[in-house]
Amino acid sequence: MDTPAESSPVVTVDCQYIQRGRASAYLLVDGDQAAFVDNNTPRAVPLLLDALEARGLRPEQVAYAIVTHVHLDHAAGTAALLGHCPNAHVIAHPRASRHLADPARLVASAKQVYGDAVFEKLYGTIAPVDASRIRTVEDGETMQLGARTLEFLHTPGHANHHICVYDAGSRGVFTGDAFGVTPPAPDPTAQRVMLFSCPPTSFRPDEARTSLRRLLATGAERAYLAHFGEVTHLDAAAEQLRRFVDAFETILNDAAASDERGPALEAFCEAQIRNAMTRESKNRPVPLNDQDWEWFAADIRMNAQGIAYLAEKQAMQRG
Ligand SMILES: [Zn+2]
Repeated sequence: MDTPAESSPVVTVDCQYIQRGRASAYLLVDGDQAAFVDNNTPRAVPLLLDALEARGLRPEQVAYAIVTHVHLDHAAGTAALLGHCPNAHVIAHPRASRHLADPARLVASAKQVYGDAVFEKLYGTIAPVDASRIRTVEDGETMQLGARTLEFLHTPGHANHHICVYDAGSRGVFTGDAFGVTPPAPDPTAQRVMLFSCPPTSFRPDEARTSLRRLLATGAERAYLAHFGEVTHLDAAAEQLRRFVDAFETILNDAAASDERGPALEAFCEAQIRNAMTRESKNRPVPLNDQDWEWFAADIRMNAQGIAYLAEKQAMQRG
C-alpha cells in the first residue's frame, strides 16, 4: 500500500552541493524520532534543519546522524549537524570513525584536488566529531528508530568504509554511493542509466558485486541514492550496475596491460567508460540525453581516475 506523501517516513533533502540535483541527504522519521542519512557538508546543515522544521520536528528529536561513508559530500557536515542536535549519535562503519574524529587527512586530500578557494566555497570548515558520540556498527547490526528497525550492511566496493541502511518497514534501502548514481528524475520508476561509482582509491570489483547482491537480497523495493533520489526496479538496476562493474574490471585490466600512464591512461579509461554507457543507454527504456551526459561528466571523470589509479598500482606491483 502506498503511503501518502505528507506522511512518508522519508524526506529527500537536496543539499545544493555544486548544483541542485547533485547530492542529497535523507531525513527518516518515525513517531517522535528522526534520523539523517548523510549530511553532505557544513553548507548543507541549514537545509537539513529546515527539512526537520518543515516536518514539525525539533533538533533534539534527532537520534541518529547516519553516515554511509566518509567521502566529504556525505559526511563533511557531521560535526556541524551534531552541534545543533544534542541527542544525536553518529552511526558509521568501524573504518569510518577515525576519519570522522580526525578529518585532517580527508581535508588535506580534498584541498589538493580542489585548491583552497574552491574547498572553502564547497565545504567551509570541517570540524572533528566528538569520538564519544560515534557508534560504529557491525555488518547486520540493527537499531530502532521509533517503531522502525534499521539494519546496517557493510557494503564495500565503492569505498571500504561504506554502510547501507535497510528499513524493513518501508522496504527502502539507503545506498549512499554503493548502488550507483543517476540524475534526478520526477519518476522513480523510470529505468534510467545508473552508473556504478568508483572514484580513487578503493574500487574493488568483487566486493562491489557482492554488495550489489546483498542489497538485493534484503528484499528492498526502492533504493534511495545519494546522487540522486529514489529508484525502483532494483533487480534490473542491480543487473545494470553489475554490467558496469564487469566493464570497469575489463577496462582496468586493459589499462594495466597498456603502456599508457598519467593523463593519457585516464583519457583511455574515460573513453571506455563512455562506450560502456552508450551501450547501456541503448538498452534502457529512457536513453541518455545531453543533459544526462552533462550531469554524469564529473562521475565519469572520477571513475576514470579511480580505474587508472588502480591500473598504475597493479602495473607497478608487477614491476
Ligand atoms: Zn562516495
